[in-house]
Amino acid sequence: MRNTHRHLTLLFTLLCLLFIGLFGTKSLLAEVNTVPVTQRLPHTAAVPGGIVILDVGLANDPTPEVHYRKKRVMVVQNNDQWQAVVGISLTAKPGKHLIKIKGKSTPLPFQVIAKQYPEQYLTIKNKRKVNPNKTDMKRIRGERGRINTALRHWKPQAEIETHFSLPLTGRFSSPFGLRRFFNKQPRKPHSGIDIAAPEGTPIHAPAAGKVIERGEFFFNGNSVFIEHGQGLVTLYAHMSRIDVEAGQHVSRGEIIGAVGQTGRATGPHLHWGVSLNNTRVDPALFFDDLKSLLAAP
Ligand SMILES: [Zn+2]
Repeated sequence: MRNTHRHLTLLFTLLCLLFIGLFGTKSLLAEVNTVPVTQRLPHTAAVPGGIVILDVGLANDPTPEVHYRKKRVMVVQNNDQWQAVVGISLTAKPGKHLIKIKGKSTPLPFQVIAKQYPEQYLTIKNKRKVNPNKTDMKRIRGERGRINTALRHWKPQAEIETHFSLPLTGRFSSPFGLRRFFNKQPRKPHSGIDIAAPEGTPIHAPAAGKVIERGEFFFNGNSVFIEHGQGLVTLYAHMSRIDVEAGQHVSRGEIIGAVGQTGRATGPHLHWGVSLNNTRVDPALFFDDLKSLLAAP
């Protein structure tokens, strides 16, 4: 009887070891064979101001280096593919466009289709904000350099948070891409979205990142630039106050400043810009349904 008991205990122990062995090996194999990265990517729209996502190689191969119009393009691993996330300029012509993959002789084509954005007419009381004088122009040229440096920022980073949280809740006062006229004079199209809210409303970082520029600019007023990796940069303009320093790391949801109407603005609002490969794209593409998150204009 004692022997039988001992045999049963031994058998049980052996079975346990066998089970652990099998289970353990299986989980180890699963870890080796599974590509762990499934990137949540922005929505696509092959239009001026939109985004295209293109397969640029198998994930087993080294990360490809991709350029579009001589600008470095974000490349992320998504399941078994390397994918290029390409920002298309508002000034892009409809038709065939090409990206270049380093080491490959043939460029990869993609199509851009036309999109007619509506017109918007705004009246600005401070005429210098529409027709700057000589002193203003000198300042604007200097600022342009700083802004371009911020928007050109490139930081290698494997995983990018391309799904944003809303920087604030408010009224969707002006969508992206509007063809703008200030005091009836044509100016650059609207390169971001405007969210109107009372002065002093806190503005939150939409994703983790690093503050790469901050300051008071002629058109944009008090502004903050945050880089999120691989050329994804967000811009916050017309703020009443700035709560972050250049070089500071911010986490998703952290307060970076408050809504104001500094610079060229007709009322308190956040102008929010999103840039990919130094190209301003529609921030709505980084949400499932931005309109439902904001009050109607
Ligand atoms: Zn705006």
